[in-house]
Amino acid sequence: MGIAGLNTRISKVKDAITKALQQYSGWCGRFKIYIGLIGEVVEGNYGQAQPVTDGTTFGHCNVLVSAANDIISVDALQRIQKSVAHEIYHCLQYAQNLAGKRKAAKGRDDWWIEGTARFMDGELYPIAPGSGVVNLGIFPEHYDPRVSIVEQPGKGYAASLFFHYLLTTGHTLSNINQWVSKKIGQKSVASDLADLAADTSPHLSFPKNWHGFAVAFASRTIKYLSSGDLIELTSNPPSVTLSRNLAVGQTRALSRSIKSFTFDVVRYTFPVNTTNSLQFPDTATTLRCSYRLRGRTFWDSARAGLSISIQPVASGTSYIDTLCSCSAATTCSDTFNIERSL
Ligand SMILES: [Zn+2]
Repeated sequence: MGIAGLNTRISKVKDAITKALQQYSGWCGRFKIYIGLIGEVVEGNYGQAQPVTDGTTFGHCNVLVSAANDIISVDALQRIQKSVAHEIYHCLQYAQNLAGKRKAAKGRDDWWIEGTARFMDGELYPIAPGSGVVNLGIFPEHYDPRVSIVEQPGKGYAASLFFHYLLTTGHTLSNINQWVSKKIGQKSVASDLADLAADTSPHLSFPKNWHGFAVAFASRTIKYLSSGDLIELTSNPPSVTLSRNLAVGQTRALSRSIKSFTFDVVRYTFPVNTTNSLQFPDTATTLRCSYRLRGRTFWDSARAGLSISIQPVASGTSYIDTLCSCSAATTCSDTFNIERSL
């Protein structure tokens, strides 16, 4: 079953080229892009972008976009437009930072490259998840908070969620592009993580934004579609429930370890009719945490050493949710103390 006539598809491609160039104009110098429309899917890809260089200098960019007519989906035309916006953005990346072009290094997904290109194509052509063939791609919904942003599965497409968060919190598309264009080009997971951890750029630094991203992820407040819809994640952040029966006055230390540029939610649950306190780590703290007592819908930030009293509830168990993030280049480890007071 076909999706649309050739003329319709060509005209949609033209619209997408215009829209992408309008959005990206001024983000880098002038250069040529050659775009070919082909009637098949190339090596499983809907589009490809290739910088043409003399070895050291960027010359121009070649793009192939699949306008295959054999895709049964109401979204197929939008998928074509999304591919155009996506591949043209790859050309911008290569023109701005040739050193950052896709590396062949093993063990590293191209998260800067694909995460930001997916973000940009999603801003220009948002498509709701679960609506046809486009859903086969890796979307921000697949973001896994237990895996560092650098190592997100599926070639790093899911890392686009972080960039949606930046836009949600008021950073502009052009600022995000400017920042990313200077960053791409590391050769290993370790060098990417070290670069992010040391980042002190005034507005877009990762350490500065990371915990806010973690909170927004857990609270599901990241705006995904440019229409302002909030992202609906396919899975909840991981949660751990601990039930501790302590004697009055007894303290238990709970160590917590989180890998760099990941975050997690742990719910500490307490028996009925007991008063307890939870103390956040107070020395050499590398974790950054927020908390939420039972019945609260928002997260309060926890300063180092903060002690929270957890009052018994009339029915059921009392609990405290803790949300911690790590924006160090290596694993963050700290100790929480829980004390039974009554
Ligand atoms: Zn791509």
